[in-house]
Amino acid sequence: MSSTPTSFHSTPHDTAPKASHFLRQIIDKDLAEGTYASRRWAGSPGDAAHHAAAPLDSARIRLRFPPEPNGYLHVGHAKSICLNFGLARDLGGVCHLRFDDTNPEKEDQLYVRAIMDAVQWLGFSWESGGASHLYQASDYFDFMYRAAEYLLEQGLAYVDEQSAEDMRAHRGDFGKPGVNSPFRDRTPAENLARFRQMRGGELDDGAAVLRAKIDMASPNINLRDPAIYRIRRATHHHTGDVWCIYPMYTFAHPIEDALEQITHSICTLEFEDQRPFYDWLLHHLVQGGLIASPPPRQYEFARLNLSYVVTSKRKLAQLVSEAKVSGWDDPRMPTIVGLRRRGYTPEALQLFAERIGVSKSDSWIDYASLEGCLREDLENKAHRGMAVLAPLKLVLSNWAEVFGQDSYTEDCSLPALPHSPEGQAPPAARVFKIGREVWIEREDFEEVPPKGYKRLFPGNLVRLKGGYVIECTGCVRDASGQVSEVQAKVIPGTKSGTPGADSVKAKAAITWVGAADGVQAEVRLYDRLFSEAHPDAGGRDFMQSLNPDSLSVVTAWVEPSLAQALPDQKFQFERHGYFVADRVDHAAGKPVFNRAVGLKDSWGK
Ligand code: ATP
Ligand code: MG
Repeated sequence: MSSTPTSFHSTPHDTAPKASHFLRQIIDKDLAEGTYASRRWAGSPGDAAHHAAAPLDSARIRLRFPPEPNGYLHVGHAKSICLNFGLARDLGGVCHLRFDDTNPEKEDQLYVRAIMDAVQWLGFSWESGGASHLYQASDYFDFMYRAAEYLLEQGLAYVDEQSAEDMRAHRGDFGKPGVNSPFRDRTPAENLARFRQMRGGELDDGAAVLRAKIDMASPNINLRDPAIYRIRRATHHHTGDVWCIYPMYTFAHPIEDALEQITHSICTLEFEDQRPFYDWLLHHLVQGGLIASPPPRQYEFARLNLSYVVTSKRKLAQLVSEAKVSGWDDPRMPTIVGLRRRGYTPEALQLFAERIGVSKSDSWIDYASLEGCLREDLENKAHRGMAVLAPLKLVLSNWAEVFGQDSYTEDCSLPALPHSPEGQAPPAARVFKIGREVWIEREDFEEVPPKGYKRLFPGNLVRLKGGYVIECTGCVRDASGQVSEVQAKVIPGTKSGTPGADSVKAKAAITWVGAADGVQAEVRLYDRLFSEAHPDAGGRDFMQSLNPDSLSVVTAWVEPSLAQALPDQKFQFERHGYFVADRVDHAAGKPVFNRAVGLKDSWGK
């Protein structure tokens, strides 16, 4: 197997074609050699007999994404979804969505729905050629039980009734071979009878386990008679109380793949040591004629580690349960629902998955490359708008003198997009009003300008973007000495887009929102949730490195086109970055925006 790492850290404007990678090369080779060309597919998962009489499989490869429905999916899962569904799409295959629901204790129907939503939102489908490939591992419990009995009959498994402590002590370690269990030499008939008692509820939870009989001296500890069934009286969210024994993941997963006629079973590196058992089990089940041949094979790739982020359902659950965030969909969470609420698009996440590539060695991907993908996707899509996030009032004192009355207003206009996507008509321009009073950013005025400062200070000429050139004349301070109002004069005849626009030279153009038609909005300024690049590296307590400033909420003024946003609509607030109308809290008359990402990578600068 090739182990060439093809992962790379993105540069924001890299537009290289889809990189090939070691997994794709393996699949290409199998396709070229016809490794799976004789495979049949009966239209649904099943054993060897089920598929035997069926036509050849029209899918060239079958892959699967197999989440455990025990939490919300995160950005790491997004990588795996894009990889599996993307390879199937690109190579004439099919990708199954399979709920790996063999563990009765932690799973919930709520997560099943959320996972389906996440896969679809990312732009993928488990439907292909009119067939739905949505499966659940618990549907295979009967077959798994049959496979276990087959191993028992063949002398390839036994019921072990050692105590848990003895079993642990007898397993040995890396330098020390294990010790055979005193139950290891029971006859197949004895084992079968005892296993049926396990199933029949005659033994207590934990009183016995079923183990594969392989080699207690194997250098691979996973081959030292791994446990494959345990007794657990728990109600399963799908099969209820039908079973009091449940298969272990190591046993269940290869069988799930085999029944579904998966060709390439792609998983993360931590399963590498389990591959020999995967092959051992499927080899014996093929020999016994229980599953179709050739069986699937497992391949491992490096999981996504993203800086400033934790990607473990357990740790994310802790952030939620300890109320460090508002929920699984808090815009600071690296969950797919959180990223979506933050303003991420499926296209940005797909681009990210492609950029980071697939490799066989663990590494950290810089959070900035995820942000770069979002900027890149939104640049030509997100309509522009002006918003003032730290408002200070600016009064044009000569307004009535120039325009006849203080209440006079005039329409200004700017394009919604500076470059509309190729072949598309530009969207309608935005229209907003200028009047005697406007809102400007507090940082755009300095009574005593620092060196090089080009914005408002007494005597300086500045353009209100899309409006007039103004000359700053001074300011008013409140009782505490804070600037409460900036004063300026409008220079007639200088409006943007009119012949006189360039008659006077402004030093700078600043963003603003008119007091006449501006709308107040709640703006949530999100930053990274952690202040450490590797919050949980080396077993560190990630809760210690929460960024105390990961959220600040401001009351802003926004131009009317922004106030009319639909929930989930993305914008570029000129000069500030990309923002999204919050999918949960934004409503007509009560705008709420989330900052998705700034305009430039400014973290730590
Ligand atoms: P977690 O550790 O967060 O609970 P998991 O691996 O237990 O994740 P599963 O539901 O079992 O979660 O994962 C479904 C699939 O997603 C698996 O194939 C797994 O390998 C893959 N996956 C999980 N985390 C990552 C990651 N960080 N990068 C890439 N793939 C991942
Ligand atoms: Mg898992």
